[in-house]
Amino acid sequence: MSQKISIHPSVDGGLKSAAKDFKGGVLKCHCSSDQVEIAIEGQCAHNHVCGCTKCWKPSGATFSQVAVVPRGKLNVTKNAGKLKVVDSAAPIQRHACEKCGVHMYGRIENKGHPLYGVDFIHTELSAEPGWAPPEFAAFVSSIIESGTKPFDMSAVRGRLKELKLEPYDCLSPPLMDLLATHAAKQKGTLRE
Ligand SMILES: [Zn+2]
Ligand SMILES: [Zn+2]
Repeated sequence: MSQKISIHPSVDGGLKSAAKDFKGGVLKCHCSSDQVEIAIEGQCAHNHVCGCTKCWKPSGATFSQVAVVPRGKLNVTKNAGKLKVVDSAAPIQRHACEKCGVHMYGRIENKGHPLYGVDFIHTELSAEPGWAPPEFAAFVSSIIESGTKPFDMSAVRGRLKELKLEPYDCLSPPLMDLLATHAAKQKGTLRE
């Protein structure tokens, strides 16, 4: 199946490069009218493709594409009334458009969480070119839970490597280090 593997529509044709001095853009949901709009100021960070079953993916995509921005750089500018939290018990509160189902942003409200202060966004919802492209693939093995055959996994990992998206079965080493550092500080194992 190697020719036919679709990772995500935004990367299948090769990664696009980030624009220098990128100013940001507007994320729009998939409704045909009264779209929810979210203005993002500046560039995103840690963009990656994610195989977990929680992140929103466009139809047909095997992975989602997800990045972070500082919480203060995200503003809901239109039709905020259509947003609803998908699962209020989840650590990341995913705010989705009630009508079309697209996840517009994810936010962590627990101040003790290592990723408190950043919001999760899907840059493909913005028409502006120049967003920083994905850097790696996270939670790759989890795509089995959403229907990929275990037999196809080596082809999927091969395609990710071809796209220069190093496949990891959790997050990338720098992000895993960040989470472990936070945990070690909380336990007192690591002092600053
Ligand atoms: Zn919508
Ligand atoms: Zn995910």
